[in-house]
Amino acid sequence: MDCIFCKIVNKQAPADIVYENDKIIAFKDVNPKAPVHLLIIPKKHILSIDHIEIQDKTLMGEIILTAQKIARERNLTGYRLVINVGREGGQVIDHLHLHLLSGKPIKLP
Ligand code: 5GP
Ligand code: ZN
Repeated sequence: MDCIFCKIVNKQAPADIVYENDKIIAFKDVNPKAPVHLLIIPKKHILSIDHIEIQDKTLMGEIILTAQKIARERNLTGYRLVINVGREGGQVIDHLHLHLLSGKPIKLP
């Protein structure tokens, strides 16, 4: 499977990794849209939120808690979490990812 985020998980592609455990990895977005722009992803290849199953609910909670942990460690007083789903939802990379954006006022489109 030719998935750039799986390659980052497997260290076959470079990334500026900021957090990693056995199930989750977080790294800097290569094309940041805010002063802080991180991507938090499951190591397991899940295509999108439209593809999660009931057994993924703990993993999804851990992804959100990872965002909170990173934000606290960086003393981010406010941040925005975004998950794009599907092409019409703005999803370009077909490996589920949570955007963590901070450092400038961010308006919903
Ligand atoms: P999406 O539009 O799918 O929600 O967001 C994909 C994000 O992944 C974009 O913000 C884009 O800049 C980022 N991105 C795409 N390819 C790479 C890559 O190879 N490395 C990193 N670090 N980020 C990437
Ligand atoms: Zn993948």
